[in-house]
Amino acid sequence: MKVSLLFLCLSFILTSGCGKQNEGNSETNFDRVVLSQGADTDTGDLPSLALTLSTRLVLLNFLEDEEEKMDQAGELIRLVVGTQEFRRRILNHTFEGRKIFVDNGGLTNQEIYQTILDGAERLSPNRNNRIDVQVELYYGSTNVIGYTYPNSSRIWVNRKYFSIYTPAGVAQNLFHEWLHKLGFNHAATWSDSRDYSVPYAVGNIVGDIGQDFL
Ligand SMILES: [Zn+2]
Repeated sequence: MKVSLLFLCLSFILTSGCGKQNEGNSETNFDRVVLSQGADTDTGDLPSLALTLSTRLVLLNFLEDEEEKMDQAGELIRLVVGTQEFRRRILNHTFEGRKIFVDNGGLTNQEIYQTILDGAERLSPNRNNRIDVQVELYYGSTNVIGYTYPNSSRIWVNRKYFSIYTPAGVAQNLFHEWLHKLGFNHAATWSDSRDYSVPYAVGNIVGDIGQDFL
């Protein structure tokens, strides 16, 4: 059986930046409800799990302002998942004329949506409706935005990009990496079809909708 050992998630924005690192960990929980303008907040007949998804991030090597940005990204994810548009865009995602994702693990769009709402990471497979990950910031001069390993609940995020991303961009990257934790994969090198894989396509959807909340 072929096992991919490393998910490298490459950049789509190329600008550099760097900050000092600090020591220590922090844990953040996002339970706030943010009223926003400019976003479609009609929840209609969404499944209740779409409105209750929570985020539990353990942050490593984050400065205070970096923690704040990651907090905002986590909050954006909660808000995005609670929209009709998020569900609609996943259920209607199309590749080559069919309503599917590339590298979908044999799941339909509806099953992928449900998998996201369940929040059962492969390494912690209880359906707790929560995003559970450790996030470690590092600096690398490469064009890698972030990476993770299938056998780790940690994701590594490149400060070079994190420092210049908006909270919506951070949310996009975080969601992409978290989808790996749910077991979704993508091709190691770029191709037209890779953008239709679950991590890339759903990450992009999160980033798009997230901008509406800023
Ligand atoms: Zn990836």
